[in-house]
Amino acid sequence: MNIHEHQAKALLKGFGLPVAQGVAIFKHEEAEAAAKSLPGPLYVVKSQIHAGGRGKGRFKELGADAKGGVRLSKTPAEVAANAREMLGHTLVTKQTGPAGKQVNRLYIEDGADIARELYCSLLVNRETGEVAFVVSTEGGMDIETVAHDTPDKIVTVDIDPGKGVTAADTEKIVGALQLDGAAKADAATVFPALYKAFVDTDMSLLEVNPLIVMQDGHLRLLDAKVSFDNNSLFR
Ligand code: ADP
Ligand code: MG
Repeated sequence: MNIHEHQAKALLKGFGLPVAQGVAIFKHEEAEAAAKSLPGPLYVVKSQIHAGGRGKGRFKELGADAKGGVRLSKTPAEVAANAREMLGHTLVTKQTGPAGKQVNRLYIEDGADIARELYCSLLVNRETGEVAFVVSTEGGMDIETVAHDTPDKIVTVDIDPGKGVTAADTEKIVGALQLDGAAKADAATVFPALYKAFVDTDMSLLEVNPLIVMQDGHLRLLDAKVSFDNNSLFR
């Protein structure tokens, strides 16, 4: 089972993880008020579909030079204009297939000042059944491309289920992601909290792409894709 980005972020926020403020909407009439409720001065209008690659995706009904499924907006009025253009239309991304997916829900999110985009995911190692972090400095693009072009830039850190995320594990991740200052300090809570969220809610995949370092040096989860183990519903 998959959940939407905004639902994944609400869940992760409950584990103390740093996510931006945002509001999910279903009608374009709700867009302006949603934006006005956020700190600003930058807003992002994000299509909520069960597929990634939304930023680089294109809407079937709009012209070839129309913007994609994740749109930066500078004012609440611009948020509303984007929402009007996006809602009800069909977004085609690398992951939807040519038919695309209809966008029936948008997430209006506070904009972040991005310094670096990183990749971080958690998954279950099929052979050992244990959980591993997969991280890379090359965030914001799809990991298959990174794996193909620069496999040495992907680092896997296996977590011992008996110990959880140790200080040594965090140190490995910090080194692989080249974190320092505030981001390094944040790492001490962010990576153990990601692991706890993953294990406690029976996730089968948690992909944060990108995990960002902001201009102020802190970490933030800018995107979140979560899948649950179907069996867990019956436990
Ligand atoms: P997808 O992976 O489906 O394309 P993302 O949520 O990763 O969607 O968004 C695509 C890109 O848009 C990100 O890599 C980032 O550069 C930008 N972005 C997304 N959310 C925000 C935000 N809240 N503030 C600033 N930029 C954002
Ligand atoms: Mg993404």
